Amino acid sequence: MESRQQVDALIVGLGPAGGSAALAAAQAGLRVAAVERKKEIGVPVQCAEFIPLPLARYAQAEGVLQQRIQGMVSHLPSGKFESSGSAGLMVDRAAFDQALARQAGQSGAKLHLNSRLVGLDSAGSSAIAVTPQGEIRFDYRLLVAADGPHSFVARSLGLPPQETVHARQYTVPLFEAGGNAEIWLSPEYPGGYAWLFPKGGVANLGVGVDKRFGADPKALLDVLHRSLVSAGRVGETILRRTGGAIPVGGLRPNLVAGNMLFVGDAAGLTHPITGAGIAAAVASGERAGQAAAAWLLQQDGDALAAFEEDIRDQFGASLKRAAARRAWLGQYWRTPAAGEDRIHRRGWVAFPEYFTL
Ligand SMILES: Cc1cc2nc3c(=O)[nH]c(=O)nc-3n(C[C@H](O)[C@H](O)[C@H](O)COP(=O)(O)OP(=O)(O)OC[C@H]3O[C@@H](n4cnc5c(N)ncnc54)[C@H](O)[C@@H]3O)c2cc1C
Repeated sequence: MESRQQVDALIVGLGPAGGSAALAAAQAGLRVAAVERKKEIGVPVQCAEFIPLPLARYAQAEGVLQQRIQGMVSHLPSGKFESSGSAGLMVDRAAFDQALARQAGQSGAKLHLNSRLVGLDSAGSSAIAVTPQGEIRFDYRLLVAADGPHSFVARSLGLPPQETVHARQYTVPLFEAGGNAEIWLSPEYPGGYAWLFPKGGVANLGVGVDKRFGADPKALLDVLHRSLVSAGRVGETILRRTGGAIPVGGLRPNLVAGNMLFVGDAAGLTHPITGAGIAAAVASGERAGQAAAAWLLQQDGDALAAFEEDIRDQFGASLKRAAARRAWLGQYWRTPAAGEDRIHRRGWVAFPEYFTL
């Protein structure tokens, strides 16, 4: 049986982008509904769980903060490595997403879990979700697409799929207390890299690659895992397996389509070199919620264009540089040059060469 609900803002997806959008919109006084296809927000976790320090204020809820990270050690193909300052926090990503959504709910947003958006009539500003209570048709005044790398909203509008990197990750016991994130740059990982992020007594160990170069992230992760087990650094037991797609094509050409705003991974806000996207997801979601309120409550006709301009001002330049570096690196994968340190120094954010022209 279909029921019908009228809302000001419909938020699709309750990751960090959707949670922040729902929170900001509800706090501003809008009638907000959010649909999330997962039964439990943030579960399963598909993330290495590193956030930069400026996001610390979002890591204050109980159970979110796991450990501090002082810096990053970047390993080059020659075996040389370099340390750099890259302070941040390791979080429990499920708890992080849940805390945002909980606050949105407490601010008045109606959260529909286990509820998948399956239909969108953008011309009629209505959308259908399959929920445990049956189908709900939402008549919305504004929609926020926070539905991740394979955005259903984008597909419904006929927008092209985003270029992605594929990642696999194991959580394994860590035998040494570490305060640094570790990164491996190598011709073995075309279009990506491998990582070890310490999180208390365990570590998130992962590999991300561009499958167009014929690389298999799971096989590569198994090799890396075995080598670290042999070195006595991590345990053999795999406590958790996860993975996922990371958009690496840069910002979508348009973040606003009529009365729809794209945020987070759905907008292409993930960094094309590092794959980091939580900070941009939170910032863009929050800004979208504020823009929704300005547009709907204060009748500010420029509010949605201002949202797009602000996001481009904040993230455009660094995403553009990263996308350009990614394209530049692309010519070397599967060539002998991909084994040279100088190529990776120019292609990785921890080295000064990355920031030179
Ligand atoms: C393996 C891996 C490791 C990563 N590690 C890091 C890291 O350490 N640090 C970092 O900053 N970034 C990391 N990222 C990237 C980061 O996870 C994303 O950038 C971030 O999750 C983007 O948030 P989002 O809210 O835009 O999208 P998501 O977190 O993907 O949330 C989208 C939500 O929409 C829901 N959804 C999708 N379709 C529908 C539908 N039709 N109806 C209802 N709900 C729907 C999904 O279930 C999901 O909950 C990693 C990504 C991967 C894959």
